[in-house]
Amino acid sequence: MSQTSPALITHWAAGTAYAGRSGRTADVTNPATGAVTGRVALADTSDAEHVIGAARAAATAWANTSLARRTQIVFAFRHLLDARKEELAAIITAEHGKVLDDALGEVSRGLEVVDFACGIPHLLKGGYSEDVSTGVDVHSKRQPLGVVGIISPFNFPAMVPMWFFPIAIAAGNTVVLKPSEKDPTAALWMARLWREAGLPDGVFNVLQGDKVAVDALIDSPDVKAISFVGSTPIARYVYERGSQGGKRVQALGGAKNHMVVLPDADLDHAADQAVSAGFGSAGERCMAISALVTVGPIADDLVAKIADRTRTLRTGDGTRGTDMGPLVTREHRDKVAGYVAAGEAAGAKVVVDGREVRPDGAADGFWLGPTLLDQVTPEMSVYTDEIFGPVLSVLRVDSYDEAVALVNANPYGNGVAIFTASGGAARKFEHDVEVGMIGVNVPIPVPMAYYSFGGWKNSLFGDSHAHGTEGVHFFTRGKVVTSRWGDPATRPTSGLELAFPKNH
Ligand code: NAD
Repeated sequence: MSQTSPALITHWAAGTAYAGRSGRTADVTNPATGAVTGRVALADTSDAEHVIGAARAAATAWANTSLARRTQIVFAFRHLLDARKEELAAIITAEHGKVLDDALGEVSRGLEVVDFACGIPHLLKGGYSEDVSTGVDVHSKRQPLGVVGIISPFNFPAMVPMWFFPIAIAAGNTVVLKPSEKDPTAALWMARLWREAGLPDGVFNVLQGDKVAVDALIDSPDVKAISFVGSTPIARYVYERGSQGGKRVQALGGAKNHMVVLPDADLDHAADQAVSAGFGSAGERCMAISALVTVGPIADDLVAKIADRTRTLRTGDGTRGTDMGPLVTREHRDKVAGYVAAGEAAGAKVVVDGREVRPDGAADGFWLGPTLLDQVTPEMSVYTDEIFGPVLSVLRVDSYDEAVALVNANPYGNGVAIFTASGGAARKFEHDVEVGMIGVNVPIPVPMAYYSFGGWKNSLFGDSHAHGTEGVHFFTRGKVVTSRWGDPATRPTSGLELAFPKNH
């Protein structure tokens, strides 16, 4: 019986595939079947130098390319991406496992950042003040940084890189993207699309790999800034190592997002939203709701409504029109199932048990159905840890104050939601909570591309959030120019003045 070895998923440098020389690879699997579908190259430091070198070689010419030309290319990329987004969605589903419809949603949210980046001429406009002193004018400008590194997680192989690279490229930087080794093909597909859109070689590059590749990016003197998204321990590490080396770093970390339901909320709406936000993408979203906090006497009623809805969900192969796909790897599936067991052993009530799922998919897929745990308390590991799976934990409290105290005591601060019929309660909540992104009767409050995305506390290290005007600032640096041009007709002389200017 002949067996073909899975294809190599390469790096991308200077507009072409680059196999690398490290000899190291990792298996890439289809989570719905368990089959190995590719082998991704894992860079060593010389591979990283090769890819970073391509970005360095292209940097000056790209920074000096006119705004008009840069914008045309970003617009062409936007057009191609929109026309071929189903192709990219299919790649995401095949390596990540999320259902096709959700993969398409991911691409559409990324596309919105490309839309935003098409407006870069307006976003880069500086200020101008005439005659700040007699005959003296001041203007400001923002210029690109050079080579920037983007390190992304497995859960959004297209959208998270697109939080950063459209703006970085439009602003005149060159990019090295280091995608997750679990689903690396989307990055290569986007690299080819950039080439088709007319982007000069070397402006967008892909470095495949693991910690070795990440460290090489952080330590390279050619890389001026790092945008990282991933788990909190790695985000902290990247932020500390990068900023100690003098780099500009934004490192977005993990999350534990609460949904607080007040007694006056529309419970059917709240139940619908809790199920969608808890189990969409199998809970593998940094903005997923994982802790539902019921306030007062509504708990039994709300849990029953959520349980009924959860039982209707169909788990299975994301290409078959199911509601929820598999988890990304077998190890991750087993880890999440372990959390459910630990919660049960600690006294949580398993209302819906995803371990008993009968999936619509291959026997070797990494299946775990949606799981609802009630009577969870703050010291249980299902609450203290980011599980990153289809597990919704219900915590019961007696008052609004108790709910806010619970949210604020949590070390993460990515997203939070409140469900209520009271505008006053919602207004107070948005003031009181120590969280970066807040939803009012909206469970996953991901900001639009022209606002900025980012959490507080252990969910983000650094000052700048992603995309929006903060993204433009992150990928550029400012200059202010003060100039004096005399009238050639009068040729005024300023005379000597050694003191700080006083007379204007
Ligand atoms: P991860 O931290 O394991 O990996 C993220 C990136 O870091 C990957 O590119 C990976 O190759 C690299 N990496 C892994 N181990 C490393 C190490 N020891 N040293 C240096 N680099 C290393 O995260 P993941 O499992 O791919 O993604 C899920 C995590 O990402 C969750 O914690 C989730 O909350 C978080 N996330 C956060 C946001 C946000 O906006 N805050 C968005 C998406 C995902």
